[in-house]
Amino acid sequence: MNRFSIGVDLGGTNLRIAAVDEHGALVEKITLGTKVSLGRDHVIADMCDAIQRMSEKFKNSAPLLGIGIGVPGIIDMQTGLVRESPNLPDWVDYPARAAIEQCLKTVVILENDANVAALGEKWLGAAKDYDDMAMLTLGTGVGGGLVLGGAIWRGANGMAGEFGHTTVEPDGHICGCGNHGCLEQYASAPAVVRLAREAIARNGASALASAAHSAPEFSATSLYQLAIQGDEDARRIFRYVGRCLGIVLSSMVNSLNLPIYVIGGGVSSAWEAFSPAIYEELRLRSMVYAATAPPDPSASHQGASAHVKAGPGHKTIITRALLGTDAGLYGAARLPMITEARR
Ligand SMILES: [Zn+2]
Repeated sequence: MNRFSIGVDLGGTNLRIAAVDEHGALVEKITLGTKVSLGRDHVIADMCDAIQRMSEKFKNSAPLLGIGIGVPGIIDMQTGLVRESPNLPDWVDYPARAAIEQCLKTVVILENDANVAALGEKWLGAAKDYDDMAMLTLGTGVGGGLVLGGAIWRGANGMAGEFGHTTVEPDGHICGCGNHGCLEQYASAPAVVRLAREAIARNGASALASAAHSAPEFSATSLYQLAIQGDEDARRIFRYVGRCLGIVLSSMVNSLNLPIYVIGGGVSSAWEAFSPAIYEELRLRSMVYAATAPPDPSASHQGASAHVKAGPGHKTIITRALLGTDAGLYGAARLPMITEARR
């Protein structure tokens, strides 16, 4: 067996732990429920217990390189404090890294879950041939991650890459972060369902009504089914989702000029329904995209793309993620392989 590390994807619903070898082969994966209601100590005890069992099982076959943990929240990388976490409310301002290290008697690397998903897609997924990439994860929220030179770009405090909280509607829907009109309010699974409910309230769209009444992840999927069956109300919602994504991606492309932007998370299964609007918006709004767009004979040329023609050289790729829900697990396992130990 090759050298391996243990990756943890701590979600608001599932706690998943995997042993992954240094070449990216999955050795073992287990899924436990995250018992958020029993409190952080209980969740940490469950997590540490599973990590220890997995580490014991393989440590005589190959060296353990380390443990990486993706956490749904903003983390201060210096102190190891979780600063904000809508899905794990009692973890806020709690020294999670120190508590986990005390429990395991070894160092761990804590990282934002969207950053970790980006690292997974960079290592083994849609961006594996690129050193620089950005990712948007469309799930319960909209996560963002930026990988530069093969490593997560953390910024000064470890909080970089929050593209989901970029404003797309200045006076739009209130966001959990306190701002109004964040991308998260127009491209997450709960947002897609809210947009459907708003459409129902406006014009009584009947097909939407039956699809929109269950849990957000499920209803977003059933709304997508409606869109591919041709329901115009559902199609309009996904065009709007794509438009909002395209507005944020235009700013990202103009600011960063990266070779590839990857879109993942549960809502990305509706790719066919929202991606045409993304490309349309990019061609309109981003001169950098217009100058670097892959050829598309069906594209209309207005806005930025009427001013700037695509030239030779690197193309800007906007594409779907490849690893599904495993991106976070692979990325978490990758962390100890590319991060120097703190002590
Ligand atoms: Zn926000």
